[in-house]
Amino acid sequence: MSMPNTPIKCTQCDFTGYLVHRPITLIYQLPNGEQLIEGRQFGWCKVCDGIRDIEPNFIKYFDTENRITELSEKVASVGHKLSSALSSIIGMAARDDENELRTLTLGLKIARARNSSPRCLTCGTAGAGAVTALEEYTHICGGHLIPLSRSDDAPRFSYSEETIYLDYEGNRVGQLTPLETFTNLAQKVDIEGVLDKGLVSGILVFTLFDKADLLLMKNEPEIYRKFANMIELRIMHGDFENPFSESISARRAMGLSGELTKEEKSSLADSPRVLFDRTKVPVAKWLRSEIRDSATSDCSQL
Ligand SMILES: [Zn+2]
Ligand SMILES: [Zn+2]
Repeated sequence: MSMPNTPIKCTQCDFTGYLVHRPITLIYQLPNGEQLIEGRQFGWCKVCDGIRDIEPNFIKYFDTENRITELSEKVASVGHKLSSALSSIIGMAARDDENELRTLTLGLKIARARNSSPRCLTCGTAGAGAVTALEEYTHICGGHLIPLSRSDDAPRFSYSEETIYLDYEGNRVGQLTPLETFTNLAQKVDIEGVLDKGLVSGILVFTLFDKADLLLMKNEPEIYRKFANMIELRIMHGDFENPFSESISARRAMGLSGELTKEEKSSLADSPRVLFDRTKVPVAKWLRSEIRDSATSDCSQL
């Protein structure tokens, strides 16, 4: 399919540009294997210094909870199931409801789990002020970029369709297996150590997904082990909120060594790890020793 680009201009200065209508499909991959298909929007990226394809803003899904409830009730009702099985026209409407419900539910899951605002699909930059939807963008001169009508004789362009696979934070990751989506999740979760009398009594792992979205991992020992291994790697490399950081800096301030004592080290290694869902309900609990053998073999492969 060929179509002309849309010319745009600034309302204040002589800046002109084009919106390039390349067909792009964004496929968001959630940890449990579900996928949400979205389209891009146009935005301004400060790093690329120009108009770019950017991610949709998932904030829109926060307003959909009432609609989700309404659709769930509709889809669950007996009459709905009947109509869906009966006439093709009514059946179509029923399927539309189901599709809308599915899209909104997945969109809301991603909105809740995301830390980043829409990313530039060219350079991956995110952040308020760095990447801005075009209609909200203020040009350097203080003007706004507005589309001009396309003239019929404008040159037409053909673009091949592009499909981009993303994780829920909008990073380009290629197509992931369920094992990879959970390893990806393990790289992003918050890890906190709890101190009790100067020693670690537990390591808390916080996800922003619902319990139901994490159950696939619990039921697949290999995925569970890989997930736990990734958490251990992050603890080993200090990629978490280290509970000892205060006492280490206090010791350093006194001119003492910042090394952990043997007791501190073993409390960090041996304390139970607990995984929580979005509502802080514990989903899984394990000890490092339970996965240590597989952890060592996995580490050697890295
Ligand atoms: Zn301008
Ligand atoms: Zn960019």
